[in-house]
Amino acid sequence: MKRYRETTAVDGLSITLQPGEVVGLVGPNGAGKTTALRCISGVVRPTDGRIRVVGYDVRAHEREAKQRLAFLAELPNPYELLTVWEHMQFVAIAYGTEDILKDRGEEILHRLRLLDRRNDLVLTLSKGMKQKLAAACAFIHDAKVYLLDEPLMGMDPKGQREFLEMVRETASGGGAALVSTHILDTAERVCDRILVLSRGRIIAEGGLDEIRHRAALDGGRLEDAFLTLTESEETAE
Ligand code: ATP
Repeated sequence: MKRYRETTAVDGLSITLQPGEVVGLVGPNGAGKTTALRCISGVVRPTDGRIRVVGYDVRAHEREAKQRLAFLAELPNPYELLTVWEHMQFVAIAYGTEDILKDRGEEILHRLRLLDRRNDLVLTLSKGMKQKLAAACAFIHDAKVYLLDEPLMGMDPKGQREFLEMVRETASGGGAALVSTHILDTAERVCDRILVLSRGRIIAEGGLDEIRHRAALDGGRLEDAFLTLTESEETAE
């Protein structure tokens, strides 16, 4: 649970990620997605509850837990006076993985079409390029758990596809990802499981069939089930 003064942002949330799965976190504005991801990443402290990453408690064993986590924040703000490559180096040093940066970093930048900008200052990048740089940084240290908050924001379609492939490859290698998004078609296509959050609580979870079932729909897209579920929550209030 996380409370900000009088606002309870998430409540009674229990999320377990299995190795190899990509889980979508969807919900209306203010549902608590960012708060949940910030709590799991250790960026903010939950008011109540425990978070463990590959067995390590985020508070008691912060270093071990964070070493295994990659957190891509919503609206990331990379250091503008570093070059793209210096920024990658900075993150690699923070995680103690400079030795693998050269090959891995170049490959990631190449996949996200940023390699030719490696010596440019971050402040000269476009909005989508900054998002790609932040996304690239999440893949530098070979994390086990990826917390991705609206990762596709501002990315062009090719970048989105490449990024999502990188997420799926990570899952194939035994990693797990929790991805918040408003792009429901993408969540439906890419995620193994979806969590629908509303007013800080999970109101439906599972594959598309389970989410539809919860919404009492026989067919349709994730968007149809999402709108049915979240609208009925609002009218219940
Ligand atoms: P969005 O889709 O708009 O990004 P979200 O699902 O990520 O929304 P959160 O940002 O987690 O939602 O917000 C959940 C609730 O917590 C909202 O009511 C919000 O106003 C509140 N909240 C979030 N951060 C803070 C903060 N730092 N201080 C006070 N209230 C906050």
